Amino acid sequence: MDDKSRQGVREIRINPIVPTESVLIATARSMRPRQSEEPAPRDTRKHVPTCPFCRGNEDKTPPEILRRPESDEWEIRIVENLYPVLGDDRNQSNLVFGLQQAIEGYGRHEVIVDHYQHGIAVHEMSVEHLQNLFGVYQLRMGQLYASDERLRYVLVFKNFGPAAGASMAHTHSQIIALPVVPQNLQDEVSNSRNYFEKHHHCIFCTLIDEALTFETTIYDRTSGEVVRRINVGQYVVERGERFIAIKPFASRYEWEVHILPLHHQSDYLDASEEDLADLARVMKRTMARLDAVIGGAQYNYFLHSRPRGKDWEDCHQSYHWHLEICPRTSIPTGFELGSGLFVNTISPEEAAEQLRNAELPDDL
Ligand code: AMP
Ligand code: ZN
Ligand code: ZN
Repeated sequence: MDDKSRQGVREIRINPIVPTESVLIATARSMRPRQSEEPAPRDTRKHVPTCPFCRGNEDKTPPEILRRPESDEWEIRIVENLYPVLGDDRNQSNLVFGLQQAIEGYGRHEVIVDHYQHGIAVHEMSVEHLQNLFGVYQLRMGQLYASDERLRYVLVFKNFGPAAGASMAHTHSQIIALPVVPQNLQDEVSNSRNYFEKHHHCIFCTLIDEALTFETTIYDRTSGEVVRRINVGQYVVERGERFIAIKPFASRYEWEVHILPLHHQSDYLDASEEDLADLARVMKRTMARLDAVIGGAQYNYFLHSRPRGKDWEDCHQSYHWHLEICPRTSIPTGFELGSGLFVNTISPEEAAEQLRNAELPDDL
């Protein structure tokens, strides 16, 4: 083994959109072993009599907001969260003291039962079902924004597995409607707006173009021979007609993958039915690749889309909505907490290649 391969990649990669979310890529042996998360034991049961999210136990949840289809044989439900982190009770006072500023914790917190089958994995759901699920996210997000103009951001996310913060085994997502735009979104939206003002291009579209077309050849100075060629599509994990799944160059998590619409779109609410159908296909195949490579990983995913409020009205051309999937295969350490630098021990190039090469069933 030569020195180079023993050292592996060791570099700090600056996130091109949010520089404060930069990453130390350290594949060198000296960084191992890290504490790693074991895959969660899969609960593959279809129905669990005591589970409040299973069919037949509808009375074990707070009021229902919607169900699809409208029958006892529902496949997806949205209910109020039994223990909301935000609510519409308006009895908190705005106490402000010195540096201790607070904003009223007004908002909504809802649970989406993603599928009537208790332990089904996302890659096992049909494309049609996933399309319906993405449609339900969109419908509810639109309803929430329309219901109250004080809401600034509606976050849709999913926790799967205890290492990803999940407390319920039944497959579910959550919606939290916030009275503020979270700082990481403010950074994404305002940094991409600055980029647009300078370059007259959306930075996300540019990243997609680079992922699809970037090619470079490195020649030996003396012999003129080709030493290295950086491939087209090096960061592409999956490509649909309308969506692409890419491995970010500065991935915080070893197996992190982002899915973006290929055609520029700032707001998830603008996605058409055809868009959501393709998103569902790309999502299913991406999750199947992750399952094939890391097997039953615990993960979070969440949607980033255009926020509301007058500060964010002019970002239609510069912001580009996307879904971030973050498998939780290692536990953040004091280094991460103390430095704010994420440590990633697998090079994104290698991870992308493994995901691309994963064998998927023919019918997927
Ligand atoms: P997680 O902790 O990510 O698994 O999300 C599960 C969510 O479901 C939590 O936010 C809980 O507050 C909520 N929850 C737990 N039990 C119930 C229930 N019976 N009805 C509605 N929501 C619930
Ligand atoms: Zn269940
Ligand atoms: Zn774009």
